[in-house]
Amino acid sequence: MRTQVGIVGAGPAGLLLSHLLALRGIDSVVVEIRSRAYCEARQRAGVIEDGSVRLLREAGLAGRLDREGLEHGGIYLQFAGERHHIDFRELTGGRTVTVYAQTEVVKDLIARRIAAGGALHFEVTDTEVDHLESERPVLRYTDATGVRHEVTCDAIAGCDGFHGICRLTIPPGLTTVREREYPYAWLGILADVPPSTDELIYSHHRDGFALHSLRSPTVSRLYLQVEPDESIVNWPDARIWAELARRFELPGTGWELKQGPVLDKGITPMRSYVSAPMRYGRLFLAGDAAHIVPPTGAKGLNLAMADVSVLAPALDALLSGDDGPAAAYSATCLNRVWRATHFSWWMTTMLHRTPGADEMAAELQLSQLRYVVSSRAAATSLAENYTGYPPVPAPAALAS
Ligand SMILES: Cc1cc2nc3c(=O)[nH]c(=O)nc-3n(C[C@H](O)[C@H](O)[C@H](O)COP(=O)(O)OP(=O)(O)OC[C@H]3O[C@@H](n4cnc5c(N)ncnc54)[C@H](O)[C@@H]3O)c2cc1C
Repeated sequence: MRTQVGIVGAGPAGLLLSHLLALRGIDSVVVEIRSRAYCEARQRAGVIEDGSVRLLREAGLAGRLDREGLEHGGIYLQFAGERHHIDFRELTGGRTVTVYAQTEVVKDLIARRIAAGGALHFEVTDTEVDHLESERPVLRYTDATGVRHEVTCDAIAGCDGFHGICRLTIPPGLTTVREREYPYAWLGILADVPPSTDELIYSHHRDGFALHSLRSPTVSRLYLQVEPDESIVNWPDARIWAELARRFELPGTGWELKQGPVLDKGITPMRSYVSAPMRYGRLFLAGDAAHIVPPTGAKGLNLAMADVSVLAPALDALLSGDDGPAAAYSATCLNRVWRATHFSWWMTTMLHRTPGADEMAAELQLSQLRYVVSSRAAATSLAENYTGYPPVPAPAALAS
């Protein structure tokens, strides 16, 4: 078999890349180890930056997002019994984020690729990439019926997430890894209950961080800071709701947390990880395959989309004999990746309780929070990073 770009992974990075390449008339084959149903149900991100919304819109993918997505002009920061609004619109000259679940982005992308006749193979096994230093790298996989395939490509995109195989094929001496694990995890629930808030609430509490997010006008998404090795069996629904109510409590205001049936729950470790460079020969890494951020800054999905918006035109040029944009791909992406990595680390360490931290550390955290909600300069810094920095220009990803 022959294609121009072999894509490993049908997450947001791989699917969007395949669509952006198709807009440029470039063929791709996408292979994915999970089933379509699994990919469409996996609960993950939900906050989409201004620039990512524009990219999806200009790529013709925002029909449902524009109808069902919920535009948010700020967030609340809560600490020491106070809740403060950070007004993104006012601080950044009108920039916002949109709440639209990653599962919906993935459903939209899969539907579009299938309608366009795109080669999208689910439930593959034994994925391999080879001959990456040559101009004809090879993608091998076994399809769902057990037939082995070998696809000769011009380039391969490793969009296979943090646990994928592509990053591991780069000889170890050629990459630099920077990594930090955090001494806590997030217990997340999806609940069949309307949100109790108009904007996301980021709550710093002496017993740990909590986040009130949402996925739609009728479905809430809530998170609790828990121990890194915590087991979900220790958290029956009643305990989760009691702990959430305590960490969001605002005495004397009448505000109450609405509770409802829990549709999904799980525990996610927190990690910052950057592997550089994001290119090895004709292999290009994108999204979580190259970098992971803790979810506090709502950046992972946005970075995945930003990477492939740079990669699509770079591959287009490479296939026409110009290696310039492909040579610049890694450095261009890493500039945004490191900004998001710093912002996510900053939000995480400002808002979580660090196990074993002393009173000095606790006072420093509170001082930082008070500064962010009282200084226009500090609040603007949070707002411009949260809505996406550097702001994404009109998507070059689409120009041919
Ligand atoms: C609880 C949680 C909350 C989050 N909240 C946010 C948020 O609010 N905002 C935000 O921007 N980000 C958030 N993120 C991060 C975001 O979900 C990820 O950054 C995003 O999924 C990255 O997309 P991706 O396509 O790079 O990787 P993935 O979505 O991981 O996709 C990779 C795909 O590759 C497949 N694959 C793996 N190995 C192979 C193989 N060998 N062969 C073929 N296929 C393979 C996988 O099955 C998967 O489908 C959150 C993450 C979590 C866990």
